[in-house]
Amino acid sequence: MADIIQLLPDSIANQIAAGEVVQRPASVVKELLENAIDAGGTHIKLIIKEAGKQLIQVIDNGVGMSTTDARMSFERHATSKIRTAADLNAIRTLGFRGEALASIAAVAQVDLKSKKHGEELGTHIVLEGSDLIKQESCETPGGTNLQVKNLFFNVPARRKFLKSNTVELRHIIDEFQRVAIAHPDIMFEVFHNNVETYHLPSSTLRKRVVNLFGKNMNDKLVPIEEETDLCKISGFIGKPEAAKRSRGEQFFLINGRFIKSPYLNHAVVGAYEEIIPAKSYPFYLLALEMDPERIDINVHPTKQEIKFEDERLIYNIVKAAVRHALSQYNIAPSLDFDQSPILANIGTAVPDHNTRDKIIIPSSFSRDQRPDASGWENMFEGMEKRDNTPVAPATIIESSEAQDRKAPVQLHLTYILSQIKSGFMLIDQQYAHERILYERNLSLIQQQKASSQRLLFPKTYSLSTQDTALIKDLLPSINALGFEIEEFGKDTFIIHGIPAHLSNLPEEASLFDEFLEQFKLNVDLELSKEQRLALSLARSGCIKRGVALQTMEMEAIIDQLFACNVPYKSPTGKKCFITFELDELQSKF
Ligand code: ADP
Ligand code: MG
Repeated sequence: MADIIQLLPDSIANQIAAGEVVQRPASVVKELLENAIDAGGTHIKLIIKEAGKQLIQVIDNGVGMSTTDARMSFERHATSKIRTAADLNAIRTLGFRGEALASIAAVAQVDLKSKKHGEELGTHIVLEGSDLIKQESCETPGGTNLQVKNLFFNVPARRKFLKSNTVELRHIIDEFQRVAIAHPDIMFEVFHNNVETYHLPSSTLRKRVVNLFGKNMNDKLVPIEEETDLCKISGFIGKPEAAKRSRGEQFFLINGRFIKSPYLNHAVVGAYEEIIPAKSYPFYLLALEMDPERIDINVHPTKQEIKFEDERLIYNIVKAAVRHALSQYNIAPSLDFDQSPILANIGTAVPDHNTRDKIIIPSSFSRDQRPDASGWENMFEGMEKRDNTPVAPATIIESSEAQDRKAPVQLHLTYILSQIKSGFMLIDQQYAHERILYERNLSLIQQQKASSQRLLFPKTYSLSTQDTALIKDLLPSINALGFEIEEFGKDTFIIHGIPAHLSNLPEEASLFDEFLEQFKLNVDLELSKEQRLALSLARSGCIKRGVALQTMEMEAIIDQLFACNVPYKSPTGKKCFITFELDELQSKF
C-alpha cells in the first residue's frame, strides 16, 4: 500500500496556526501592538476601520526591519527574539513564538512598510493569504507601518462568525487598554473610523489610568508598593467606593505582560472581603516583577495565562499586599499581619520601606505546609467536630481519626480557654461574638432574610428630630436586620419585634437603644451603611465581657467563630484569639 502521510504546505499550516493566534480583530491588534513595543516604539498609532473587519493598522517609530527581515517576518517560527531553548526561560519581550505575522498573513491582506532608522529606503511588502503579491523599495519613515485588511477574507466561515462592530470594537478596546496600561511611557493614539478615540501622551502610571478611565479615578486610587525576595508588586488598587457592579477594570501584569489569572484575582478579591459589597468588583492594576525563570509564559498560545513556580506563595503575597495597602489608607480596619494565622507560621518579616507597620511575607515553605489553608484549619486536626451546622468556608475539623475535643473553660468571665493540637488558645468572648454577629448581620442584610421575634409588649420610642431623620433613612435596612419598626406619628416609632437571633439577650429591651448609639458612634469608620449597621448591631447584641457562659455556649462560640470568613479579627480589628504553643509552655518550666 502506498504511503499516505504528507507534510502540510506552509500556507495551510499557517492557516491552522492562525486559528489559534487570530480569533478576531482584537487578536491582531494585540499582536501588532506588542510587536511595535518589542521593536522599541515610543509613539504608536492604532488605526481601525469597521471594528477591525476592514482595517487594522499599527504605525510605530521602533527599530524597523531590513528588507530580509521584513520578508522573513512572515515566515512561521521566524522571530528575532529567541535563538536558543535557554532563551525561553528568560523572556522579556512580549512576542517570541514567531507565529503572529505568519498567522495573520495567512488569513488577511497585509501591507507592510518598514525602514531601519538611518537607512535611505525602506521595504514595501504586500501579501494576500500568505502569497507574496509585491515587494519593492519605498520611502517611509523609520519604523514600521503595518496594515491588515479584510481579516478572514479567505476563510468566509470565520468572517461570518465575527460579532457585531460594537462587540468586536469592545474587544479591541480591551486589548488596547491592557497594552496601554502596561506601557505608560509609550505614547498611544487610536483612531476608529477616522475619529480619534484615545490620545495618550507618555506619562506616569497614575496619569495613564486617569487618561484611560476618566478623571474621577484620580482620587480613587490607592498605591501599592511591596518588595519581597520573590517579587516586587507595584500599581494601584481602587478604593472600595470605586468598586463596580460589573467586572470592570482589573489588570495583572507580570513583567510588563498582561495576564489573566482567576487564581490571583481570588487573592485580591479576598483582601477586599467585607470592605466592598458582595458581587461588586474592585479596580486593580497590579504589576508584578519577578525572575522570568520562575514563571512559564509558554503555556498559552496567546500568552495570557502563565504558570508560576511558587503559585501559592504569590497568592499570599498578593493578598497581603492588597490588605496592607487598604489598611495603610485606613480603608480596612488595620490588620496586624504579624499575628495573622495565615502568614504567621510561614513568614519572615520583611522590612517595610514605609516603616509604618510591617508586613509579613512568607519567604519559603514546603509544599505540604499548606500556607493558604488558613492556619486555624489545622489547629483542631484530630479532634471531632461537635455539631452539624454547616461551617463554610473554612471547614474547621476534618479528620477521620476523630477524638473527643476537650471541653472549653471560661477564665475571668472573659476568655475561653480551648485546647488545640499544638497547644491552646484563648478566645476573647466579646470580640469573638462580635465577629460572629457581624458576619451574620451582614449576610442577613444582603439576603434580606432576617427573621424577627415579636415583642410581647411593643415598645414606643420618641426620638429627637435628628435621630428621627437618621432612622427614617435607615429603616428598610434596619428592618432587614430583623427589627420590626414602624413609624408612628411625628418623631415616634413603634418596635414590634427584634432580630430573632438576638432575642434571647437578657437586655433585649435596650437592644435598640444601644444599636442606635453604636451606629452614631461608628460614623468615623470608613464602612458602607450596611457594614455600619451590621457592626452596630453586632456590638450592641454581642455577649459582653463579664458574662458567665455555659460549656455549650462556649463551644458554640468556638465553632461559629471558626466558621467565619475572618475569624481572627473582630470587625473593628481586635484579635479574637491568641494561641500558645506547647513548646512555648514547656520552655517556661
Ligand atoms: P514574534 O513577535 O513572536 O517574534 P511575530 O510574527 O510577531 O513573532 O514577528 C516576527 C518578527 O518580525 C519579530 O521577531 C520581529 O523581529 C519582526 N517584527 C514584527 N513586527 C515588527 C515591528 N513592528 N518592528 C520591527 N520588527 C518587527
Ligand atoms: Mg509578535
